[in-house]
Amino acid sequence: MKNKFFLLFEDCRIVEGYTNAIIYDLNRSANSNHIPKSLVPFIEKCKSIPVLDVINSYENVEEQQIAQEYLDFLLEREFGFLADSHVKDQMGKLNLDYETASTVQNAIICCNDHTFKNINSIISQLNELLCEDIEFRCVIKSEENFNALCNLLNDSVFQTIIFRMDYEEFLTEKLIENCSLQNPRISHTFVYGAPVFKETEQFTFLTDKADYYNDCGKINKDKFVINQPFYLESQSCNTCLHKKISIDFEGNIKNCPSMHHDHGCIKDKSLVAAIDEPKFKTAWFIKKDEIEICSDCEFRHMCLDCRAFIDNPENPYSRPSTCGYNPYIGKWLGEAGYKSFEECGVISNEQSLSIDHDKIASLNEELWAE
Ligand code: SF4
Repeated sequence: MKNKFFLLFEDCRIVEGYTNAIIYDLNRSANSNHIPKSLVPFIEKCKSIPVLDVINSYENVEEQQIAQEYLDFLLEREFGFLADSHVKDQMGKLNLDYETASTVQNAIICCNDHTFKNINSIISQLNELLCEDIEFRCVIKSEENFNALCNLLNDSVFQTIIFRMDYEEFLTEKLIENCSLQNPRISHTFVYGAPVFKETEQFTFLTDKADYYNDCGKINKDKFVINQPFYLESQSCNTCLHKKISIDFEGNIKNCPSMHHDHGCIKDKSLVAAIDEPKFKTAWFIKKDEIEICSDCEFRHMCLDCRAFIDNPENPYSRPSTCGYNPYIGKWLGEAGYKSFEECGVISNEQSLSIDHDKIASLNEELWAE
């Protein structure tokens, strides 16, 4: 091990939060792991100083043992490797630029009898924009309209199609199965307000009614995504709204149907004209590193953002209000020891976020002291 350097693989990325840090393994998400924050400076030093020298630089034997344990853990989990000096100098760097060919990556289109008359034009515009993924939220009363919509999708460029629909008698299992067979890019159909619950690979009938505008943007661990495209996108873009376009049930063009602000109505304006407005793209580039509180959270590059439901609607950089995580103490709402931001001395005011570091330090000492 003499003269060897310890290097993290480029697809293993450390993301530091206020209290915790995580190594994101971008190609093996399940291998990702929380690490003590004290391990971060150790890994940094090992990039430029041989690992044995780093371990021996700790003054007492106990610290040296801990450093050796850190190294064993990192090697065992294959987060990095021991390298000679010449390998270290030749290591390529992960390119953090995020680019995709399409102008629009995903769309949410709300369809009812009011917006249905424009559906032909909407789909052909989205085809031209090379939209990859589309979600339809439908309140369609006639089987004829539903079939017409499915037929329009057959020749579309969309890679995945999701339907969320209000239950109507014509929406039988057979009809949905036939549509999915005809168009395998329909990944799933959710039907809300159905008489009975039923789930198959193609559809889910749910007895609850849909609340298409409010039932969105919930932040929880189950929705975290660890992979390279998502990580790269989150470095410079918003993880929900980037290259997204939506049309609400009134025909208004928006970043997301749940947002209040619109960019004109589809009957008078093309999607391209709406996207070309500089204000439309502002939300595309609000990244997690700029959002209050999220910028202190170790989950920020695996977390879907939401700009529709935020703590302070006057501040576009405020935290998603549906999140129950407090990164200053590393606790989720409902967990033993959880404290609110106010209890931690974290106060968001109009100018800035004020953080009482001493208060948080003493709370963390109480919470985490062994
Ligand atoms: S604090 Fe922000 S980044 Fe962290 S889990 Fe909540 S919403 Fe996601």
